[in-house]
Amino acid sequence: AKAAGKRTCMCYTDSMAVDLRRRAHLISSLRRVVERGELRLVFQPQQVLADGRIDAVEALLRWDSPEHGSIQPDQFIPLAEDCGAILPIGEWVLQEACRTLAAWQRAGVSTQLSVSVNVSALQFLRSDLTQTVHAALTQSHLPPSALELELTESVLMANADVATERLQAFREMGVSIAVDDFGTGYSSLAYLHRLPINTLKIDKAFVDGLQLSGDSEDTTITTTIIAMARSLGLLVVAEGVETPEQLTFLQQQHCDLAQGYLISPPLEADACLRFILDVQQH
Ligand code: C2E
Ligand code: CA
Ligand code: CA
Ligand code: CA
Repeated sequence: AKAAGKRTCMCYTDSMAVDLRRRAHLISSLRRVVERGELRLVFQPQQVLADGRIDAVEALLRWDSPEHGSIQPDQFIPLAEDCGAILPIGEWVLQEACRTLAAWQRAGVSTQLSVSVNVSALQFLRSDLTQTVHAALTQSHLPPSALELELTESVLMANADVATERLQAFREMGVSIAVDDFGTGYSSLAYLHRLPINTLKIDKAFVDGLQLSGDSEDTTITTTIIAMARSLGLLVVAEGVETPEQLTFLQQQHCDLAQGYLISPPLEADACLRFILDVQQH
């Protein structure tokens, strides 16, 4: 038993060393992703449940690394956040999202369509984000209403005072704010009420558990979030919608928008443009 224990311990240590080496290697690559042009954005449509229009798209980051292959954002964004590389990366995402939307408008997409961009904690707290956002909009000749920033509930909760101040600046600018992964944190209703936000995105974890029969815990939570959003005058987006049953339930509850594989997976810019124009023409 002792020998086995020792072996387990050694394997663990070895794999930790590998992890650390991989981590260091990834970090040094991450510092150069922007200048090397290894990043691209894909776009996932958000559908208005009342009339089927596509009202917004979420920009999602992809990294195709010649050294590491394709790496999921869940794996490299936390690293980029730790080493600070998220600042130039985040700036690139904002510029690219705005450039793409402007190009789509020239190709005939409604000026009502907005793009949502994920903003990380460090980007929100440390950088001069209002400046970066302003520059991205100006360069693309887009009005502030064309852009929504997605911040997770946990980022907003962990930094309540700074968050309120920063969000106020965006409100004054006319840029919308969505609270991402809503329901997973511990927001108090009173706190939420004071924040200048526009949209709540119900976390996929709750949408996964939606049942038409109606008495699962997730069903109750989703119904409550929708009612709460309505009473606060906020838009609600359900994320990770995969089945017609989930969509029907959300429609019955008067959820405003749905995003998920059922409507469309995240698409390359060209494919997303075609998708939007196609829906627009029907
Ligand atoms: P998120 O903001 O919650 O984005 C939603 C994630 O769910 C995306 O994963 C999307 O591809 C995926 N998804 C959408 N619909 C469905 C569905 O119906 N079923 C399932 N199973 N998944 C669905 P993705 O693209 O891998 O992104 C993961 C996370 O990485 C994002 O979660 C976000 O937190 C972060 N992220 C992505 N792009 C950026 C970025 O540009 N900046 C920052 N700071 N974070 C980003
Ligand atoms: Ca998001
Ligand atoms: Ca989310
Ligand atoms: Ca998430």
